[in-house]
Amino acid sequence: MIWREVGDRVFTRQYEFFNQQIGVVLGGRDVLVVDTRSTPAQAREIATELRELTRDPVSIVVDTHWHFDHSFGNSVFRPATAWGHVRAAARLRADGKATIEEIAAELPEIAADIRETVIDPPERTFEDRATVEVGDRLVELSHHGRAHTDGDIVLVVPDANVMFAGDLLEEGAPPSFGDSFPLEWPATVERLLPLSTGAVVPGHGEVGDQRFVEDQLAAFTRLAQLARLVHEGGLDVRAATAEELFGGPTPDDAFERALAQLQGELD
Ligand SMILES: [Zn+2]
Repeated sequence: MIWREVGDRVFTRQYEFFNQQIGVVLGGRDVLVVDTRSTPAQAREIATELRELTRDPVSIVVDTHWHFDHSFGNSVFRPATAWGHVRAAARLRADGKATIEEIAAELPEIAADIRETVIDPPERTFEDRATVEVGDRLVELSHHGRAHTDGDIVLVVPDANVMFAGDLLEEGAPPSFGDSFPLEWPATVERLLPLSTGAVVPGHGEVGDQRFVEDQLAAFTRLAQLARLVHEGGLDVRAATAEELFGGPTPDDAFERALAQLQGELD
């Protein structure tokens, strides 16, 4: 694995663990990292490998959302400032500690490492949008509605034409639906289309382009359609999950969450 420059001084590195894409934006003496991985040990790997790009320390981290694989490395980069959505920070504060034990039980291979996590939520939070100075350039953070969680943000580097979409988009595997709002996901992704004129970096999987966003939009739109059919009694849920929207059977919790939403249970 190596750093790949997807735009002027904008890099990604794909990690085998969860096929995750970590981003870096360099500007002046500033170093911004997009997502901090699942454990302090994994975050320290980023810090070490960053020396291939710069001698400067990380000065800014951005969590695209609160899930452990995107935020549990935060503390390693302090005293950097940390940015995220206001609801992502709140969720980390409320549930971070419990999540450590849940994941330790689920993923024994990282249990010891994840127990070293110091929950360290972003202190620079916002609702809709924020602009971050990265040395000589600006980076735009924005929230476009509920979808994968209630507090996902995207990061756009306008002068390099790159968008980091976090887990609003996922390549090579179905998205994660456990905390999702599947009926709102299509509208949220549609709002990313105007921002995806260059490289599009998903939270997991290969870097794509606008075509990739369109394909994901079509899949999320179909998912919402199928869920409505199931809800109305016109389709068996097993037939709905069998439709290969994301390159394989759709995860059960996609329909569980969509149906819960249609029954008014998620608001
Ligand atoms: Zn993720």
